Amino acid sequence: MITRRLLLPTLLLGPSLASTALAQAPAPAAAGAMPVVTTFSILADLVRSVGAERAAVTSLVGPDSDAHAYAPSPADAKTIAAAKLVFVNGLGFEGWISRLIRSSGTRAKVITASTGIAPLKAEDDHGHGHGHGGGHGHSHGENDPHAWQNALFVKRYVANIRDALVAADPAGAELFTRNAAAYSASLDALDAEIKAETARIPAERRRILTTHDAFQYFEKAYGIEFVALRGVASDAEPSARELGQIIRQIKQGRITALFMENITDPRAMQRISAETGARLGGRLYSDALSGADGPAATYLAMMRHNIRQISGALAQS
Ligand SMILES: [Zn+2]
Repeated sequence: MITRRLLLPTLLLGPSLASTALAQAPAPAAAGAMPVVTTFSILADLVRSVGAERAAVTSLVGPDSDAHAYAPSPADAKTIAAAKLVFVNGLGFEGWISRLIRSSGTRAKVITASTGIAPLKAEDDHGHGHGHGGGHGHSHGENDPHAWQNALFVKRYVANIRDALVAADPAGAELFTRNAAAYSASLDALDAEIKAETARIPAERRRILTTHDAFQYFEKAYGIEFVALRGVASDAEPSARELGQIIRQIKQGRITALFMENITDPRAMQRISAETGARLGGRLYSDALSGADGPAATYLAMMRHNIRQISGALAQS
């Protein structure tokens, strides 16, 4: 099980995905391109996809990093001060951004990329936050910010990005409009792909136990149920008692697969899997892309990676 888990990311970097990612890599920014800042890596990828060579995009929070718990640096204030546009997710995702913008003295226009999306309410997180292995335990506030986990909602992000870029750089209007339309078409294709993939999973198996609460939008859009792990601290290895609780919860909930990044002790994972028959999934990317060499280097690659991990873990053996 553990071997399979470790191998998965490598397998997923097969030639088809690699070439897709290459074909979709946005053009690098040209000299004199408009300086644009985004708060996190997923948003940076979307802005690059629309802005192409006319936008020099800097992401404050990089790949594989947690934007909820981010502590801005003095260099970030300088980056923002020099920007013409600052794109944020909104919905309470970046609790630290308003203060950073104020203290930077920037005159940049701030765009909330999720504007126009009807947000889901944040789930009660039973006191263990949604973990990415880093143990950020603070709450999201009233709304669930992870709207990008529904591919069709990202069309709204892309339209907002397009409009902001056109307003700031009218000479690029034709390029931005063309890129946004092409990207929106990719989002429709992605959405259809995820729906086709989930439709192949037997309905009674569409249930995952996870330490994340970042997949509500995905759950609503695609019908995979994410059951939150209860009563176990997210930032520590489980005790024998907690292990017993996890095993009971899996058996009672008839859960088919587990995605539990925080429980890294292979013996604990093997024991849970052996005692429950639930499969261990690989890594799901929720709030950040992987590095360029990873399996989730772009938003589209990230969503495809996640659905493959999920359908692989939920498939009938
Ligand atoms: Zn999150």
